[in-house]
Amino acid sequence: MPSAAAKEAVLAATEVWGNPSSVHSHGQRAASLLKESRAKVARALGLQRFSKDMLMFTSCGTESNNIAMLGCARSKNRTLSGQGYLGTVIITAGEHPSVDNPAALLEKEGYCVIRIPTLGGEIDLAALEKALTDAPAPVIFAAFMLVNNETGAIYDVKRASAMVKGKFPDATVHCDAVQGFMKLRFTPASLGVDTLTVSAHKIHAPRGAAALFISAETIKRKNIVPVMPGGGQESGFRSGTENLISIAAFAAACEDGMAHFDERSSRVDELRAYLDAQLKEKCPEIRYNRPKNCIPNICSIILPSIKSETMLNYLSGRGVYVSAGSACSAYSKKKSGALEAFGTTTADADSTLRISLSHMNSSEDIDALVEGLREGIASLQRKR
Ligand code: PLP
Repeated sequence: MPSAAAKEAVLAATEVWGNPSSVHSHGQRAASLLKESRAKVARALGLQRFSKDMLMFTSCGTESNNIAMLGCARSKNRTLSGQGYLGTVIITAGEHPSVDNPAALLEKEGYCVIRIPTLGGEIDLAALEKALTDAPAPVIFAAFMLVNNETGAIYDVKRASAMVKGKFPDATVHCDAVQGFMKLRFTPASLGVDTLTVSAHKIHAPRGAAALFISAETIKRKNIVPVMPGGGQESGFRSGTENLISIAAFAAACEDGMAHFDERSSRVDELRAYLDAQLKEKCPEIRYNRPKNCIPNICSIILPSIKSETMLNYLSGRGVYVSAGSACSAYSKKKSGALEAFGTTTADADSTLRISLSHMNSSEDIDALVEGLREGIASLQRKR
């Protein structure tokens, strides 16, 4: 849900109707709002010298991930290795489809894609080491998500990135940090990555804006090229008139989120502890997809022999909104790749619900959810 700060920024930005690329005074007003917004998002990402690095605005996290992956793969004239590949791309198993599907596209274009297992919510570092040793062509790109969107698992991106760079110093390492932004404290440098994605609608801003960080070194080495040529906005890397209203709201949400980071994190910790205690007491038949190291705002539960969609609709009828796996996979009839990679059985994945908490939730919201689950389990199981 958009925060008050984000809504206010939307209203204010509707008055700035010029095009940031226009040279007249309305355009320049828009250009300065764009610049201010970029500085705010950069601050939230801890970027000190971001005039050399690039922080590009895009329309969504999916677009940022695609630009990083396809832009990197197409940045050089690559020749086939002895084993017939243009290069090797490493990602983790269970990445969001906005990373997994571009990887599948690169596979069709002649790259070898290796998916590193993440059983139990951890990057299998031994498998990564083996992939780096056995890669049939030089590793040109690797992507490690910071937090898994379905299980909440926090991955050791820093370690994985260091391993890739230790063997392939020219490889571009990307992090999809969409689910970790404003939940964990990090910077691209602290994770040791070259490119990084964040998205507005995951931090209480409206949909329609996201950012892609690209390090100065990546640009200097010409390790990325634009994938959407056009009028040359965003330093030529992402053409198209900027969605200033969403961008300004994104920036306001970043500023607001940073100002209240600790208190909001503590609030979510409290809510999660309350949720766990209530579930244990009132719904003891519920099990968890629980990684060892996970963020508190994502809680993945397994219902006792009830399809997730059935419970989701039941809860929705009571004004309680949860999702079956990730909302982004609602179009897919396939079993969730993230749960499969985590090690959840097909039957359990069919009965998995993802509960998302935010500082805006109250303990009454959790009571309504737990009561809904308790009554839902009793009545839906009776009907089976
Ligand atoms: N990456 C992760 C981990 C996500 O959870 C999502 C969306 O839920 C995305 C990428 C895609 O972001 P967007 O919805 O802004 O395209």
